[in-house]
Amino acid sequence: MTPTEIIGELFAGPGARDYLGEPVTIGTHMLQAGALAEAAGADPALVAAALLHDVGHLPTGKANGSRRGLGGSSPRASSDSRHGEDGARWLSRWFGEAVTEPVRLHVAAKRYLCAAEPGYFGLLSAESVRTLALQGGPMAPREQAAFEALPHARAAVAVRRWDDAAKDPAVTPPGFAHFAPLLAALVRT
Ligand code: FE
Repeated sequence: MTPTEIIGELFAGPGARDYLGEPVTIGTHMLQAGALAEAAGADPALVAAALLHDVGHLPTGKANGSRRGLGGSSPRASSDSRHGEDGARWLSRWFGEAVTEPVRLHVAAKRYLCAAEPGYFGLLSAESVRTLALQGGPMAPREQAAFEALPHARAAVAVRRWDDAAKDPAVTPPGFAHFAPLLAALVRT
């Protein structure tokens, strides 16, 4: 199978139909995030990062026949701090840092925005507020400065904003097939 087919299977699999405390399934949520990035005119790597940002929540499906997240933790447990790291590590076999770093950092970007941007916390879903505590809460000033210095910090913040907006049960996003060519073109050769 090609990388795009493997990722497509995850989007089609049972893990993508979990809700993880939000009003849309994780699959719909990721497709909405990708569509929002695309509509904003983001470059392909950033569209891919938005589309794939929560892949760490999805089980590997056929690979081990279990319902465990990519990092081996339960989907629920991986909904707190590790799913960004797990997803980025899994994606790094095919994609470069322009895709994997915003995925890895999207949880940190939430902690960053909670500290750096007045009003951001009020935009979070109830589930995002709940997991914020598990993820370490808003960043301290020193952490904010360290985050801002990371090469992909701005991209991670962009992904985070699409992430927050991609929880609308009234929106039907394009299917995974819409994004497959974009992903295929990004796979490292
Ligand atoms: Fe998300």
